[in-house]
Amino acid sequence: MILLGSTGSIGTSTLEIAERFHIRVEALVAGTNIELLKEQILRFQPCFVCVATEELARELDHPRVFWGEEGILEVIRAASSAIVVNALVGFLGLRPTVTAIEEGKTVALANKESLVAAGAFIDPGHLRPIDSEHFGLWYLLNGRTPRKMTITASGGAFRDWPLEKIASATVGEALNHPNWSMGAKITIDSATMTNKLFELLEARWMFGCERVDAVIEPKSVIHALVEFVDGATTAQMANPDMKLPIAYALMRQVHDPILPPVDLLEVGSLEFRPIDPVRYPIWRIKEDLLKHPKLGVVVNAANEVAIEKFVEGRISFEALSGLVLDAYERFGDVDPKSLEDVFAIDREVRSWCEKAR
Ligand code: NDP
Repeated sequence: MILLGSTGSIGTSTLEIAERFHIRVEALVAGTNIELLKEQILRFQPCFVCVATEELARELDHPRVFWGEEGILEVIRAASSAIVVNALVGFLGLRPTVTAIEEGKTVALANKESLVAAGAFIDPGHLRPIDSEHFGLWYLLNGRTPRKMTITASGGAFRDWPLEKIASATVGEALNHPNWSMGAKITIDSATMTNKLFELLEARWMFGCERVDAVIEPKSVIHALVEFVDGATTAQMANPDMKLPIAYALMRQVHDPILPPVDLLEVGSLEFRPIDPVRYPIWRIKEDLLKHPKLGVVVNAANEVAIEKFVEGRISFEALSGLVLDAYERFGDVDPKSLEDVFAIDREVRSWCEKAR
């Protein structure tokens, strides 16, 4: 496989699966974590390596080192592996997804931002889901047609906080996820509930189903539910660990134990709660966004700028979602007709958000 984002949370779990099942790692792509990448190079002996900058590339002793966004695309074109695991974070992952598909490869997709921003221009036939909820949906669907699909949310760091405290929450507090250990951006996206909004779009594009919704399941034991026309609803349960979705995305068939099974008596009871737009203001645009899913590019671009501003201490936690909602209103009439339109709109929204607030 070609692994994009090898030093991240999904990337390191992917390498654990690769090691256990003897899957050859032909290329490793990382950003700036050179020390970890060096260890990975020694362990997996990839033919191709790529890092964020030329300066970092010079620190590596490897015959085929590439760098930058163009370097990622070159690696995808040069390597012969049929599977690309895209575990890059953010909009940066879109071109690699598209390039891998153009090269006839299958994309094991963790980078949900690819579908959020440009789902209308990506053929889902080339994708395998790594996101746990979408893996859960795929596992349940088994080729059948759903009437409705529901994914679950943990509720993020502020699920049980008093409402008045949330507006001024700090970055450290937003990063304190109750159930999952993940990269920084997705953890903040979970605290605002933007992650779940993104996953609804991801489900919409990946499975072509327009009836998608989300509920809070605080224990993160149930990941997805599918309602069928006959009135039956099935649910996928597993302990919260990304190695199960990753194993299926890489191998399709899995006959070995990956996770310990869910202990029902230990779980005890399950609870489902609605997602409250007062606690999670981003949820106000859910219905409209599902009606106009191409607006995902606006939400994604604004969200990436807003997160950066929040992490740098330039705006409050409350203003983070506020900025995304402002951008959604400002750019509510955009209608990308091509991938290049998506890139142009992304640039425009970013530049507007940089100046706003
Ligand atoms: P992390 O932040 O842990 O990892 C991101 C990876 O991208 C790192 O390897 C990082 O490299 C690399 N990267 C960042 N910038 C660049 C760059 N300019 N050039 C090359 N590589 C770069 O994120 P996660 O693993 O948590 O998430 C990855 C994706 O998977 C996201 O889209 C997320 O939403 C999705 N996802 C994650 C889940 C999870 O459990 N973590 C669950 C479901 C989906 P470096 O660290 O070396 O800079």
